[in-house]
Amino acid sequence: MNILISACLLGVNCKYNGNNNEVQNLVKQIRNVIFIPVCPEQLGGLTTPRPPAEIQADAKVVSKEGKDVTLQFEFGAEETLRIAKLYNCEYAILKERSPSCGSKQVYDGSFQGKVKPGEGKTAALLKKNDIEVYSEENFEELMEMIKGRC
Ligand code: SF4
Repeated sequence: MNILISACLLGVNCKYNGNNNEVQNLVKQIRNVIFIPVCPEQLGGLTTPRPPAEIQADAKVVSKEGKDVTLQFEFGAEETLRIAKLYNCEYAILKERSPSCGSKQVYDGSFQGKVKPGEGKTAALLKKNDIEVYSEENFEELMEMIKGRC
């Protein structure tokens, strides 16, 4: 079974500030699956490091410097979906609260560290295409569900 995963959760330094969001032992906890690492923001053509960006009330994605990067985020989402389909991924584990990868919450657009219920651009597109999206906060539910299937 192939599972799409945010590359930063595996320790890849693709986060906006050039760091990562590694979850120690995540890979070791899920056995007998193949992880397909992606970073939608890099796939969308953004640099690393890059200014942080958040989703605004009008659904546009704007960087802290005030630049509209919605197109890059949408392109990154499309490219991620393309990879998910190429590898027949039915499931994804994506970083919560990211404007690309968040599946239940995202930062609220104020750059104050506040969150609101919502989905990042990539998580939303994957869900729309019937890919179930989990995060580093609830991936145990996915492990439980796929037990016996791989
Ligand atoms: S876009 Fe997703 S994979 Fe890339 S750094 Fe942000 S949370 Fe991680």
